[in-house]
Amino acid sequence: MANRSLDTDLVFLGSRPCPLTGAVSPPIFQSSTFAQEAPGVYREYDYTRTDNPTRTVLQKMLARAENAENALAFASGMGAIDCIFGLLQAGDHVVTGDDIYGGTYRYLTDIAATRGITFEFIKIDQEANLREALQRTKTKLVWFESPTNPLLNLVDIEMVVRVAKEFGAWTAVDNTFMSCYFQQPLNFGVDFVMHSMTKYLNGHSDVIMGAVMTNRSDCIERLKFVQNAVGATCSPFDCYLAIRGMKTLAVRMKAHEENAQKVAEWLSQHPKIEKVLYPGLPAHPHHELAKKQMTGFGGMVSFYLKADLDQTIKFLQSTKLFTLAVSLGGVESLIEQPATMTHFEMPKEVRESVGITDSLVRASIGIESAEDLIADLDQALAQI
Ligand SMILES: *Cc1c(COP(=O)(O)O)cnc(C)c1O
Repeated sequence: MANRSLDTDLVFLGSRPCPLTGAVSPPIFQSSTFAQEAPGVYREYDYTRTDNPTRTVLQKMLARAENAENALAFASGMGAIDCIFGLLQAGDHVVTGDDIYGGTYRYLTDIAATRGITFEFIKIDQEANLREALQRTKTKLVWFESPTNPLLNLVDIEMVVRVAKEFGAWTAVDNTFMSCYFQQPLNFGVDFVMHSMTKYLNGHSDVIMGAVMTNRSDCIERLKFVQNAVGATCSPFDCYLAIRGMKTLAVRMKAHEENAQKVAEWLSQHPKIEKVLYPGLPAHPHHELAKKQMTGFGGMVSFYLKADLDQTIKFLQSTKLFTLAVSLGGVESLIEQPATMTHFEMPKEVRESVGITDSLVRASIGIESAEDLIADLDQALAQI
C-alpha cells in the first residue's frame, strides 16, 4: 500500500485486530515474562525489557510515522538519547548546536564527558562553521535540533547531512518540536531521529517516553542491544497510552498548527509585544527554509513582551486557559518563561547572548478554540 497517507496509517496500525482475540484496540500485555515451550525455546517474546507485544505495535507506528525501517521506544526522551550515544566510544567526537535542549546539554557535559566522549557547541546553522569544525576534529556524530528551543531557529537539514557525509560523520536530529507529522529528517538522509514522545507523539501530557528511528541496518542490532542492556524501556501500559495518542497525531497536529498561526498573527500586531518567533510568519528569518523542509509550522510560539522581569512574571500569572508549566505538545495550552524555567541553568550572560532574555515567553499552543486562547492572552496582556 504505497503512498497511503500517514493520517490513515496511524489509525490503521494502531487498530490491527489482535491475532489471538480479535480485539481492535491493542491489548496491554502487562506481563514481565513469557512462558517457554522448552528451555530457551519461546514464541516471539521472552522478557519485557527485551521486547513486549504492546511495544511492538507502538514501534511499528513510530517507524511508519518517521518513514523509518526501524523504531525503538524508551522510557523517556533522555533514555532514547542515551541509546544513540551508546553507539559511541571513548575518544569519539560530537559536534552539536549551541542552543540545544537543556537536558541534552547536561547529558553531554555531565554524562558523555565522563565516558571520554568529546564535544563542541557551534552555530550549526551556518555551513562555514560546521565545515570548519568537521575539518578541525575527526567527528563521529553531528547532533542537532530544528527548530531550536525556545527561539525556533531552523537548521537546514539537507545542508548538515551533505557536509557531515563529506567528512564521514553520522547525523542525528532531535525531531521533538515538529513531531513526525510536519518533518521527517530521515527523508533528507539523516542517520538517526530521536523524539521525546512525552510531547506531541503521545500528545496528552500523561506519559514520559522517547523514541529512536533509523534506516541504518548496520546500527539497529547494536541499538536494540543497548536498549535491552541499559534498560530504559517503557511499560506496556505507557505503550498503550502512546498508541492511543498517536492514532490522533494527524488531527492534533493540524489543530495545533492552525491555532498557533492564528495566535502568532494576533500577537504580531499587539502593541505590548516586541517580537513574535513562529516559522509560519513570513517575517520569520527561516520562513522559506521552513516551507522547504517541513510540511507545517508546528504548534510552538515564542514571543518577547515589551516588559521587564516583574511584568513578564505578572503576565504569566494572569493567564487562565494557558497553564504555567514546562513541557509542550499536549492538547492543552502551556506557557512558560525560559529564563526562569526551562533555561534557568544556563548562565545569564550565555542565555542573553543567544536571545533568551527575561521578557521571552514560550507557548505550547493546544487544540482549544483559537478565539478563546487569544481572549486569554488579551486579558493577561491587559494586566501589565
Ligand atoms: C522534553 C525534550 C527532551 C527530553 O525528553 P524527556 O521525555 O523529557 O526525557 C529532549 N529533547 C527535546 C527537544 C525535548 O523537548
